Amino acid sequence: MLRITGADAIVIDTAGTGATGSAGDLHVRDGLVAGEGGGAGTGDSPDDSVEVLDATGCVITPGLVNAHHHLLQTAFRTLPGTRGVPMAEWLPTMAAAYGAVGVDAGLCFDAASAGLAESLLNGVTTVADHHLTWPADASTDDTVAMATATATAARGLGARLVFVRGTARDDPERAALSAEAIAGALLPGAGSPTPGDTGGGVRGGAGGGLGRGGIADDGMLQLAVGPAGVHSDSPETFRLLGEVAARFGLRRRTQSNEQVDVAIALERYGRRPLELLEEWGWLAPDVTLAHLCDVTADEIARIAASGATATHAPGCDLPMGWGIAPVAALMAAGVAVGLGTSGGGSNDASHLLADARLAMQVAPLVGPPINARTVLGMATAGSAAGLGRPELGHLRPGAAADLCVWDVSGVADAGVADPIAGLLWASPGRRPRHVVVGGRVVVRDGQLVTGDERGIVQRLRARVGR
Ligand SMILES: [Zn+2]
Repeated sequence: MLRITGADAIVIDTAGTGATGSAGDLHVRDGLVAGEGGGAGTGDSPDDSVEVLDATGCVITPGLVNAHHHLLQTAFRTLPGTRGVPMAEWLPTMAAAYGAVGVDAGLCFDAASAGLAESLLNGVTTVADHHLTWPADASTDDTVAMATATATAARGLGARLVFVRGTARDDPERAALSAEAIAGALLPGAGSPTPGDTGGGVRGGAGGGLGRGGIADDGMLQLAVGPAGVHSDSPETFRLLGEVAARFGLRRRTQSNEQVDVAIALERYGRRPLELLEEWGWLAPDVTLAHLCDVTADEIARIAASGATATHAPGCDLPMGWGIAPVAALMAAGVAVGLGTSGGGSNDASHLLADARLAMQVAPLVGPPINARTVLGMATAGSAAGLGRPELGHLRPGAAADLCVWDVSGVADAGVADPIAGLLWASPGRRPRHVVVGGRVVVRDGQLVTGDERGIVQRLRARVGR
C-alpha cells in the first residue's frame, strides 16, 4: 500500500475537455490506483503497512509515456556532423559512430540504462524504444542478446519498456527471424514458431499463452515491430514483420511523412508514403505512425478512417528541419496522437515534458493553438492509446500506478494561476519530486532509487570513450 498525501491537485484524467484537478491523497494498492481520498481512506485494511510519499505543494499526474525513442542513440548525443545537416549526411555520420564504438548487447545495456534512468528522473514511466540499429553481421542470437540487454536494463530500473524490433535496410528474412526469436526470448509465453517456417503465412492463433498485444504478464515489458519507413525498408520487410506481428499479437509502428520519407517515396515509387503503407497493409488500427510532418488534408482523413494512431516528435522534427506535424488537425479528425522524443541523434534529451512544452509552443505555426491539458493528454493517454495500453496514461481507479509528483511550490511557479497548465508553461526543464511505476517508487525527492546514477554514467562514458 502506497499513499501519496497532501497534493494541491491530482490530474486523474486528461481525456475529453481537459484534466480534472482535485486536491488530496492518492492511494495505490498492488501496483494499481485504488482511488482518491483523505486520511487512512480508500481500501486500507488495518494490517496494511503503508508507505507514504509527501506531495505537499505538488501536482500529481499520470506518468509520462514516451511513444518514440531510440535509446541506443543516448550513447551518441550531440555528435559533430549530426546537427543542421540533411539526412543523407546524418545517416553515414551516425553509422560511422556506431561502427567505431561497436553495437552489441553491452552497449545496448549501457545506453538503455542511461536513457531510461534519465527518463524516469524526468517523469517518463514508459518508453517505446524503436531500435533500428543492428550490425550487418549480427546473428539472430546476437539480436536477441541486444533486445534482452535493453529489457534487462528497464527491469532493473523499474521502467516500463516497449521494445520495438525495428529495421533500417535490414535483410527482410533475417529481420523477421530475429523478431520471432526476440518474441520467444522476451515473452516466454509466446511459444516458438514451427521450425523451418521462416514467415511464409500467418498461422492460426496469435501466439499461445501470450498476453494481450505482446505484453508480459506484469505489464512491464511489451514487444512491437517497426520498419523505419518506406524510405528505408522494402515492401518485403513490411510484409514479413507484419506477419510476425499478426502471429504473436504485436503492435506495429513505423515512421512516416517526414521530409525525406516523402521525397524518397516519390522518387522510388512515384507515390506518397501513406499510399504505400495502405497498399502494404500498414494503415490499420494496430499501427502507429511517428512524425507525420508533411500530410495533406486528404491523408489526415485517410489516417483517421483507418484507425491508425500517430506520434508527434517535435523535439526531433524541428532540429532536423522536417517541419511541424499538424497535430490539431489530426486530433480534430479523430486520430489519437501521442508524443515522443525520438533519440539522441536528433534530440539529446529524454525529457518528454520539455517536448510537450515545445509541441504547445509551435502548434500555432501550423494550425490552432493546443492547450496545456491537451498536450499533457498527448504525453500520457495519447501515447498509451498508440501502444494499446488503456491502463496507462490516467489515474482512474484500476489504472497502473504510474505517476509523477511535481513540486509547484517554488519561485518558478510563483504567480501561476493554473498549476496544471503551469506544468508545461512554467519552469522549462522541470523534473518531478517523486516518480512511481507500477506502485514502486523509482524516484524519491529527485533521486533515482532503483539504480546508481553515477555508476550508469561512468559505465557509458567508459564504453564510448567520452
Ligand atoms: Zn525517430
